[in-house]
Amino acid sequence: MAHSYIPETNGISMKMYDNIPKEVTNIVVTGKSGAGKQPRIDVLVDEFDLQQLSTGNIFRTYLGKFNDYGFDGDLSQFWDDEEECFLTDEEISKELDTDDPGVILGMKAKYFVDRGLFVPDYITNELFNSYFGRRDYRHQVLDGYPRTLSQAKFLLKLLEEQNTDIDFILWVENEDQKIIERTIKRRICPDCGKVYHLIYAPPPEGKCEECGVEVIQRSDDTKEKIRSRLSEFKEKVVPAMEFMEEHGISIAKVPGHLEEFTPENVRRSVLEAVEDIYK
Ligand code: AMP
Repeated sequence: MAHSYIPETNGISMKMYDNIPKEVTNIVVTGKSGAGKQPRIDVLVDEFDLQQLSTGNIFRTYLGKFNDYGFDGDLSQFWDDEEECFLTDEEISKELDTDDPGVILGMKAKYFVDRGLFVPDYITNELFNSYFGRRDYRHQVLDGYPRTLSQAKFLLKLLEEQNTDIDFILWVENEDQKIIERTIKRRICPDCGKVYHLIYAPPPEGKCEECGVEVIQRSDDTKEKIRSRLSEFKEKVVPAMEFMEEHGISIAKVPGHLEEFTPENVRRSVLEAVEDIYK
């Protein structure tokens, strides 16, 4: 999609972003959970004609499969605290009385997502690789991946093996307190994953405008779990991003909070930050 001319809010002056390349291979979008990544991802998807690949959405899909399966026992029975790993899939399958790999993966995702903790790298990397591969390792906005040093190393190796690239990282910044206030009011479509906000982007009559289904609050959008995700970000995501930057991938930072939150302002803030890294 063309992106040379961006209308200003008054519709009269036009701004050009000539330094931004017309095509990119892949982009990583990072930021604390609830920082406001989705509107910025929408800009990048539209601007560069990309697809969004969200590990959070993938985990939620499997988590939904597990919820639909209807097991209500305690999940900690499947986790070995001493070894810090799950029991074998065979043992889990026997206990759950199913050999559906989607349900088993959903149980593993739920165990971590519902605690506001990251899913272990060995599960995340394998799953990410299979989805990225299905999309030919190209033309993706990677949303929420990589999030740890091990994932960043895995990704850089994969890029080399597949002869592909990350053009830049867009980092959406926001303060913890603002995030807590925003995230409590976040709602999501259980069918398509579209994100709403009760104040900034309210779902019409409480329903998803794409699916007509009632939107819900994410099970991990409670104060305590938000705080846990914020500390995961500082401890794990920040070093992962520093590692990517040390390996030559530029970072463009944008504010997640805008005084006047309009599509034009979001677009301008993203494209100006991207342009800065190409100057
Ligand atoms: P998100 O929708 O990106 O906030 O992700 C929701 C949850 O999914 C996170 O809090 C983690 O539990 C899990 N998750 C998503 N992406 C990753 C990742 N790259 N590594 C580990 N866990 C992840």
